[in-house]
Amino acid sequence: MRKYNFCSGPAALPEAVLRRAQEELLDWGGRGCSVMEVSHRSADFVAVAERAEQDLRDLLSIPDNYKVLFLQGGATGQFSAVPWNLLGAGSRKIDIIHSGQWARKAIAEAGRYGEVNLVASAEDRNFSYAPGPDAWQQSADAAYFHYVPNETIGGVEFNYVPEVSCPLVADMSSSILSRPVDVEKFGVIFAGAQKNIGPSGIAVAIVREDLLERALPDIPRSLHWKIAADAGSMDNTPPTFAWYLSGLVFQWLKEQGGVEAMAELSRRKSQLLYDFIDRSDFYSNPVARDSRSRMNIPFVLADARLDKQFLRESEAAGLLNLPGHRSVGGMRASLYNAVPVEAVEALVDFMADFEARNG
Ligand SMILES: *Cc1c(COP(=O)(O)O)cnc(C)c1O
Repeated sequence: MRKYNFCSGPAALPEAVLRRAQEELLDWGGRGCSVMEVSHRSADFVAVAERAEQDLRDLLSIPDNYKVLFLQGGATGQFSAVPWNLLGAGSRKIDIIHSGQWARKAIAEAGRYGEVNLVASAEDRNFSYAPGPDAWQQSADAAYFHYVPNETIGGVEFNYVPEVSCPLVADMSSSILSRPVDVEKFGVIFAGAQKNIGPSGIAVAIVREDLLERALPDIPRSLHWKIAADAGSMDNTPPTFAWYLSGLVFQWLKEQGGVEAMAELSRRKSQLLYDFIDRSDFYSNPVARDSRSRMNIPFVLADARLDKQFLRESEAAGLLNLPGHRSVGGMRASLYNAVPVEAVEALVDFMADFEARNG
């Protein structure tokens, strides 16, 4: 029996996708073996890979002058790949918005290769909001501008796309495919798969073609976007099963009505939970209203001594993976695309009942 899973990542996958993978696991389409057991260069696997790319292109309306790369090393690998690939054209200045823990990691890594300028920081209010453009301190000649549209741990989401004159780089690990995006506003979009795409072990990078020519000369081969692009993301053996499963998720998303439908669903799901939290004195969410994430909703109890009991009882009620990130405590419900409305309804019902018994 499948329970409701609010894990922040690796996160819930659509049940229909898991069933299809299960059906095909031992005998993939009559081939007598699984998709994991064939060459990545075989026509059969290349068809899987190409279909996944095309479906992602369709879902996000990715223009032809962008390459779609399927990479290894997770989103963290891209924290290194971004500076290695973009700092070779002259300027080594990097503009970054410090919005929380994932920005912090990107800043630390970028600082090893370039000169980081913090355009703005939300540290003054414990990363509880997305800094608006009014107070930005941009460099005149940055090689690129990095930001995290959705901070997975803090539950902070930008409700706007920065307008900048250099290439805009977005770490969309926890919000990709949850709403339409205008890809043309970005130089690079990257995401680890394990939140809103598929299983862990694969990352996606969407890179504007002209940015493939800016790599530092001594860039490690495995981080080189141009080499990956020229090789169809198969310079070496890719994570074939993760790629296949991500492709099944893309097909599922199309069947569900694509990113427009996901945007509406995300709005409904998150509003259900925020409305409940806002009506209650027992629960609270620390994030500024205009920066609240639709994907990751942290909340705390007025009396933190009840946390353990809350987590024990919610798990017993079939609501999995609600503990907040180890660095912040409290609770967090991640409402990615594969989490159905019914899961949020069950969570709110549980929270109301817990409050009635303990409030
Ligand atoms: C999870 C996450 C990462 C890290 O992803 P890995 O694939 O584990 O490296 C980076 N950025 C954001 C926004 C995330 O949510």
